[in-house]
Amino acid sequence: MENKSYFSGLFSGIKSLCTGLKVTGRELFTKKVTERYPENRKTNELPERFRGVLVMPHNEKNEHKCIGCGICEMQCPNGTIKVESEMVEVDGKKKKQLVRYIYDHGCCMYCMLCTRACPQGAITFAPEYECAVFSREALIMQLNQPDSKCEEKPAPAKPAVAPKPAAAAAESQPVAGNATPDAAPAAPAADSAADEKMAKLMAAAKKAADNAAAEKVAAEEAAAKAAAAPDDAELKAAAEEAAAKATKLATAAENFAKKVAEAQQ
Ligand code: SF4
Ligand code: SF4
Repeated sequence: MENKSYFSGLFSGIKSLCTGLKVTGRELFTKKVTERYPENRKTNELPERFRGVLVMPHNEKNEHKCIGCGICEMQCPNGTIKVESEMVEVDGKKKKQLVRYIYDHGCCMYCMLCTRACPQGAITFAPEYECAVFSREALIMQLNQPDSKCEEKPAPAKPAVAPKPAAAAAESQPVAGNATPDAAPAAPAADSAADEKMAKLMAAAKKAADNAAAEKVAAEEAAAKAAAAPDDAELKAAAEEAAAKATKLATAAENFAKKVAEAQQ
């Protein structure tokens, strides 16, 4: 009886040893992944989705795609981005224009909420990883280059207007003493109404972004509580509910942000 347990223990030990050696043997012949940094600086291959530093690509004419809408700033959970913009008049229409785009690399947590929210695809993450500097101030950078401007988009082709029939044209003529002498004065009123609408839309977008950010924090807190007490079904349910609400609010905020960007174009 004793002999039997001795031999079964011995075989089980040998089997376990062979299993371990099999893993060691396999790793001996697999491709090595150790990087010889910094010697391989020029040939170092980074993963496709590596997030190094936020950049604003410019084309050869020193143009970027940013319209200064500030949606990325609203989406950033820790105030890493500051968008300074001004209103300018282009072809008689008021338009926002980017002045300075400030990014604090020291605060960034690489969540990519900004790049995802940007309706223009104006910002992205560059695979830059040698970013060590001697002061925090050196991590604050301006992403739009000096004298750069927003890329001009070709104006959409206007649909051809069918000529009015003579009768309809006659009907549309102002009746003496009754009609307005000129249609031009209506334009400023339309402009101010549009501005008001835009301001309301932007306020709603900001509120939605704030709500989403607050709910995200609440969801994270609920998740932390649930993780601390894994047996508590009530906490788990509350965390799930908070997470679902946070996702819903984040989607709503993104939709608002898109609406603002569309309205600004
Ligand atoms: S990646 Fe996240 S933390 Fe960094 S700037 Fe964008 S939104 Fe802010
Ligand atoms: S969301 Fe995009 S277009 Fe708007 S300010 Fe940010 S980078 Fe510029």
